[in-house]
Amino acid sequence: MPITLHESYDVIVAGSGPGGASTARELARRGLRVLVLEQGSAAPLKGTLAQMAAIAAVPGRGAFFHSDASLMVSGITAGGSSAINFATAAPPPAAMFAAHGIDLAPALAELSAELPMAPLPDNLVGPMATRMMQAARSLSLPWRKLDKMIRPQSCRSGCWRCVYGCPFGAKWTARDLLDEACVHGAQVADRAQVQRVLVENGRAAGVEATIGGRPRTIRAPLVVLSGGGVGSPRILHRSGLGPRRAPFFSDPVVAVMGTVDDIDGGAEVPMAAGMVLHDEGISLADLTLPRPMYQAFAAQVGRLDRLFAHSRTLSMMVKIRDEIGGAVGPRWVSKRLGDVERARFARGIALAGDILRQAGARGIFKTWHFAAHPGGSVRIGHGVNSDLRTATAGLYVCDASVIPDPWGLPPTLTLLCLGKRLGQHLSSGAAAR
Ligand SMILES: Cc1cc2nc3c(=O)[nH]c(=O)nc-3n(C[C@H](O)[C@H](O)[C@H](O)COP(=O)(O)OP(=O)(O)OC[C@H]3O[C@@H](n4cnc5c(N)ncnc54)[C@H](O)[C@@H]3O)c2cc1C
Repeated sequence: MPITLHESYDVIVAGSGPGGASTARELARRGLRVLVLEQGSAAPLKGTLAQMAAIAAVPGRGAFFHSDASLMVSGITAGGSSAINFATAAPPPAAMFAAHGIDLAPALAELSAELPMAPLPDNLVGPMATRMMQAARSLSLPWRKLDKMIRPQSCRSGCWRCVYGCPFGAKWTARDLLDEACVHGAQVADRAQVQRVLVENGRAAGVEATIGGRPRTIRAPLVVLSGGGVGSPRILHRSGLGPRRAPFFSDPVVAVMGTVDDIDGGAEVPMAAGMVLHDEGISLADLTLPRPMYQAFAAQVGRLDRLFAHSRTLSMMVKIRDEIGGAVGPRWVSKRLGDVERARFARGIALAGDILRQAGARGIFKTWHFAAHPGGSVRIGHGVNSDLRTATAGLYVCDASVIPDPWGLPPTLTLLCLGKRLGQHLSSGAAAR
């Protein structure tokens, strides 16, 4: 049902991914009048390929091709990429934020007490993830089950629909926080794209947005940009408040695949277990994807001979930490791998090959690289200060774009912490002083 919007609010949040939803929930809980504007749809998640493609695979919207033809995806929907992500949780790297005077420990403690966040029980770890874990451990590698933002009681084995957007309520998404914000009086408008920030007398005064196809001006003394690593630098640029080209990281991934004869599977929660080599900037995990996605990756690298081997193919993610570079532009993104990234991939792919061979896999091949963590494009210390405030009073950014350094981790939990901290800061009245 369409909602009736007011002329003004205490705070407008542009974008509803983890950073924006966490900020909005905190502000609404504390009694502020909050409007969240989300350019994507808030239609219920159905767990279908068609819906996931509409959220993340429309070129120029959720899907971006770099100049080297590699792909970057992000979710354009209520909840942002959390609606379609792999639900792996990692705590914020304390030292990275401490270097900017930011302590996320209190927010992390509060969120840890409320969010579903634990390794999957054994019955929900699929046979392929189990085989890869056993092989890695037999090579004495520090492979362990990863924390998942999944409610095991609602999850089911032999299912891949979490990758398309879990329709069973098993996977936590930022939509949960939006719902809670609404219970506390916030309004969430979907299909509402923020065009630019209104600035009056050097202060943020609201936004100009296109809502349901119509231009609209909505006023608020506080505006939080949470459009994600691509969306927020673009809003800043359109507002005349940010550069045309914003360098970024994306945490590129390659999937390394090999076939076994004694498993008939292919439907399981991805990233059930893995290992992180922090110093080397490499992480590995099982990455069993739905058949159509597997087939797209096999076809992309010309492995037509493997198109129908999905149910027997072990797939492993090799993710690297990339340097901040390339650019998010007004209508494009562009980034190429440099020598550092290529060396990290070479080491990670070799390790993945060793593990897959140990698991009994043969015919090992790898995909072209792709990425799903755009960030670092409005960094703390550059585009915002340690309160996440831009150079414009009343204008804040809270999403993956504020991450200050090269990353290489699951970002969601960190962004939830940043949103909680920002919500507490803004509702304390500190922002008005
Ligand atoms: C396939 C995949 C798997 C992933 N797996 C994991 C994982 O296992 N663990 C993990 O922690 N992370 C994972 N991630 C990454 C994680 O989901 C993202 O890093 C996180 O969602 C980023 O949050 P954000 O706050 O930056 O906003 P985003 O999630 O990027 O959301 C931003 C929202 O803002 C909206 N928006 C943008 N511009 C505007 C505008 N002008 N007006 C209105 N709305 C706008 C967008 O439509 C979008 O909905 C994965 C991502 C993908 C795509």
